[in-house]
Amino acid sequence: MQQPTHGSAAHQRVQEWIRKSPLRITKARSAVASVLLRQTEPISAEVVFRQLIEDDKNISLGSVYRILKQMEDEGLVLRDRHVTSGGIKAIYSIQSDAAHNRKYVFRCDVCGRQQRIADAVLAGQLANVAALESFDLPEEILIPARCRGCTPA
Ligand SMILES: [Zn+2]
Repeated sequence: MQQPTHGSAAHQRVQEWIRKSPLRITKARSAVASVLLRQTEPISAEVVFRQLIEDDKNISLGSVYRILKQMEDEGLVLRDRHVTSGGIKAIYSIQSDAAHNRKYVFRCDVCGRQQRIADAVLAGQLANVAALESFDLPEEILIPARCRGCTPA
């Protein structure tokens, strides 16, 4: 098993993938990845395409679809479905970044002191379980606890 790092693991995997790409498609891949990396919500290929235009990147919608498919095959993006009045749309996100940004915090129930837990493996596992059980996790998860200072000796 690959050891997650305390940087953004998903971001690093994306960078690695772009580095291994043939030169002529590196620019397109990195432009699509940078659009996805700054999203907080999953977005459709059309939205990626529109943002690329705003970024002054000249990449066709067909190429956007192709790159998203390649990223999905590599396990770099998650594809989900979004139901709209116009039908069902595929939406894409770099999922583990959201999981990485989530905060798990011990909070002392006596003095209120908080301590963030920095454990990427735990965060990833909880996110996977939540996804399997169809639960959305909040940005910040407080875990009631009792700090050492408040524990009677
Ligand atoms: Zn305390």
